[in-house]
Amino acid sequence: MVQEGLDGLLVTHLENVRYLSGYTGSNGIMLVTGKAAWFYTDFRYQEQIRTEVRGCRKRVLERSLYAAFPVDDAAGIRKLGVESQHLTLHLHRLLKRQLKGIKLVPVREDLVLALRRCKEAIEIAAIHKAQRATERTYQSVQAMIKPGVREIDLAVEITSQFARVGENAFDPIVASGPNGAKPHAGASTRKLRKGDAITFDIGARVGGYCSDMTRTVFLGRPNPDLLEVYRIVLEAQRRAIAAVRPGASCREVDRVARDHITSAGYGPYFGHSLGHGVGINVHEQPSLAWVSGQTLAVGDVVTVEPGIYLPGLGGVRIEDMVVVTKAGCDNLTRSPKQVTQL
Ligand code: ZN
Ligand code: ZN
Repeated sequence: MVQEGLDGLLVTHLENVRYLSGYTGSNGIMLVTGKAAWFYTDFRYQEQIRTEVRGCRKRVLERSLYAAFPVDDAAGIRKLGVESQHLTLHLHRLLKRQLKGIKLVPVREDLVLALRRCKEAIEIAAIHKAQRATERTYQSVQAMIKPGVREIDLAVEITSQFARVGENAFDPIVASGPNGAKPHAGASTRKLRKGDAITFDIGARVGGYCSDMTRTVFLGRPNPDLLEVYRIVLEAQRRAIAAVRPGASCREVDRVARDHITSAGYGPYFGHSLGHGVGINVHEQPSLAWVSGQTLAVGDVVTVEPGIYLPGLGGVRIEDMVVVTKAGCDNLTRSPKQVTQL
């Protein structure tokens, strides 16, 4: 805030509010200054915030928190930072009406998101828990993989298992046969067939933190091209994980995987970036991409997920989550990665 020349920051992105205060409800905002933090919500959460929200002065307002924003709390503020990526024009107008004379400044980058990047031990423990749940579910749905079963049936089972321990971190991807060539396929009514490669990209959110894992398995004898592609993707991932350490540039780690895939002749079939940070959101900082200007640091939790997608035939993606440590990284994902034929 000092660097940005701000007297205060209005935190309105719910994930950021949760990170700073512990609040898990759906209507809460915060005002943070150099001296104090205020938390605002409405009547429905009055009871919940008693124990959940810590370290803030709490106020219960009308449901439209922006229209009811208590101007007194902002006394002395001249420049107030706002999270412009999450503040609609409508809410901005309401705020302006309320906070006359205060300059609302869009912050250059999401200041709280930058804080969220480095995970503390308690956060890594939560991600661990989410990942264990993901692996249990992945293991259990393997028994359902048979010709004639629809992708959507597997996705519903995954969703219902996650609901018992938390929730989906994102809509599960179950992409079989030619659908596997679409990196973000979702789950369709297509029935599994012998010879399919089936890609599962799934993750649970447990205790507010996400996991993210991808595995591709074969139903029956694998197509030889896809089998070759599997080995290339696995080796690209192994090399990239070996390159993850503090101080490594994100661009460089992406390049390690990409170079391997390109030298095998599949460069044009790996069109997305290598990975992304994971935390309260399944996609956060840093980005392991060829355009990234970021450098890895201890405490980053990132995915490493190379893939090759062959239109009409199918695809292979393998995704693990790793946490950057002083020595390099620890892999948080334990599900096996050898070729699996069901
Ligand atoms: Zn994923
Ligand atoms: Zn991912």
